[in-house]
Amino acid sequence: MDQKEESSSSSVFDSCPICLSSILEESYLDQCFHKFCYSCILQWTKIVGSKHCSRQSFVKCPLCKRKSSSIIYGYDGSSFQQHLIYQNSDNSVFFTKTHKYRLQCYYVEPGNSIGNINVLRYWKSNKYRQPNQWLYSWVSREIQALIQEKDVDIIVHHILGAIDSWRRNEPKASKLSPELKQQEFKSMVADVAKPFIRGRTDRFVNELEMFLASGLNIEAYDKVYVNHMGWKISEITTEDDEEPNERNPLIPFLCFSDEDLDENT
Ligand SMILES: [Zn+2]
Ligand SMILES: [Zn+2]
Repeated sequence: MDQKEESSSSSVFDSCPICLSSILEESYLDQCFHKFCYSCILQWTKIVGSKHCSRQSFVKCPLCKRKSSSIIYGYDGSSFQQHLIYQNSDNSVFFTKTHKYRLQCYYVEPGNSIGNINVLRYWKSNKYRQPNQWLYSWVSREIQALIQEKDVDIIVHHILGAIDSWRRNEPKASKLSPELKQQEFKSMVADVAKPFIRGRTDRFVNELEMFLASGLNIEAYDKVYVNHMGWKISEITTEDDEEPNERNPLIPFLCFSDEDLDENT
């Protein structure tokens, strides 16, 4: 029964469960043969590994939790390469509980509105012309959460630069309706962000818009979110002690148990 399930599950997903886009540099964990982008699963092992104080020579699959000791990649029909997992626990203490929470937020739809954030009013009232002092920190954190990298400055500068120049070039007397401005803004941000966050771009753009429209600082915004969604998003998908659901496993990091991701906030 196990084997049958496995062979069917590996063919079901053509997209990477971590970035939700088509797989780049196909790679597999050596025990369960779940498929990921090479860079995605590599990042993931770094993050998980960094949470342990001792060195680990295995990684738990984000989908099925089986322990693998290597990543297989570069399979060309006859040969392959293997990346052995030895974790040095230095880097990436940056990935806090909040990062984890935010990442999970990207896998669930928040519904129409969060708190009393009114996105359309933001556009109608021309509030978008005012710069937002928390935007840099907020975007940094979101990108860190999404790509599980600590150093995201270049990406963040790139996105904020595009937003700034859009704002500057936006003709004050332009006759575009607020709805059209909104569309223009969102597709501009999506174009800029897509190469980095791929399958999560649309959700990111919506989140960004919501954050801007809220006019709140990061802490207050997070509070509104937690009030709306609850702190434990994982409860509405899979519980830790449940059988991992092969057909619906698409929130990586859900398999982080609390010992994997310690409270270092
Ligand atoms: Zn990927
Ligand atoms: Zn697996």
